[in-house]
Amino acid sequence: MEPDRSERKGSPMEAHAGRRYVVTGAASGIGAATVTALTEAGARVVAVDLAWDDLAGGGDRVERVALDVADREQWAELAARLEDASAADAASGPAGTVGDDDVRLDGLVNAAGITRRARLDDVTADDFEQAFAVNAIGPALGMQVLAPLMPAGGSVVNVGSAAGTMAHYGIAYGASKWALRGLSRVASMELGPLGIRVNAIHPGYIETPMTASAPPAFLEASIRVAPLGRSGTPDDVAPLVGFLLSDESTYLSGAEIAVDGGQSAHGGAKALSDALRAASSETTDVGAQTNGTLTESQEVHGRHQ
Ligand code: NAD
Repeated sequence: MEPDRSERKGSPMEAHAGRRYVVTGAASGIGAATVTALTEAGARVVAVDLAWDDLAGGGDRVERVALDVADREQWAELAARLEDASAADAASGPAGTVGDDDVRLDGLVNAAGITRRARLDDVTADDFEQAFAVNAIGPALGMQVLAPLMPAGGSVVNVGSAAGTMAHYGIAYGASKWALRGLSRVASMELGPLGIRVNAIHPGYIETPMTASAPPAFLEASIRVAPLGRSGTPDDVAPLVGFLLSDESTYLSGAEIAVDGGQSAHGGAKALSDALRAASSETTDVGAQTNGTLTESQEVHGRHQ
């Protein structure tokens, strides 16, 4: 089904004006930065999390909702409330109907997540159950329950992880993020005929409370494997979510986008590349010490090995 493009937005600043999204994991890290970016671009956001200190905060454009994404009943209650509010708006507004710009749901961002760092030798069934409940079943339930509220043009962004694209040491977390990739593709196939797009993004090391609880060695190693040579911040991720929700990506569905400083693209080959570069610069250093100067071929060799 074709979305109505008559309302295609102009500048990025107004890309989300008049739209309404549900964002999970909204109290912290990537979800919180996404809420800020979307509201600054004109959207209203239903900000879902388990862990709100104050349900009343967040500003005019934000409605905070306490909800466990792993609980289907709670999703269903939210959907019923959104539908009731839409119906009330439609009844009270001058010419509003359900599905109007003011009342509809334009998209869902599944950013709620938990980490489980146990390795194969000591992982438990509980680790798997908890990681899958929040990181995979939660997004699946969100899509199942909220997609019927979205008109053609709706967009879902599932926040996966680089851990779901490779052999991550935390086996339950990694496996749950692999699962999220699979269900994102299925949802893209199922919801595409309704004009609803579903995409997944895969962050690398992003500085949030989740990663703050990891040992410092994880940060150091993550920077070493990222060609950009730094960790990311939630503000590196939020604009990508905004793009995937916007009219700038209307033919993008079933896609997976890494936002990881290049970490996953080299498939582990950076260690090899770095080792060869180090070895060749040692060779050329020795050459320089022996001969005083480098020949042109030594320089080229050193740079390209
Ligand atoms: P975070 O811990 O800062 O935020 C996660 C939020 O999810 C928290 O506010 C938490 O209360 C909420 N949450 C957890 N379980 C919930 C539940 N059952 N129902 C509702 N809310 C729940 O983490 P973050 O780093 O911002 O992570 C956001 C997403 O990005 C997660 O899915 C995470 O797996 C993913 N991710 C993060 C990184 C990273 O380096 N930070 C890397 C890759 C992927």
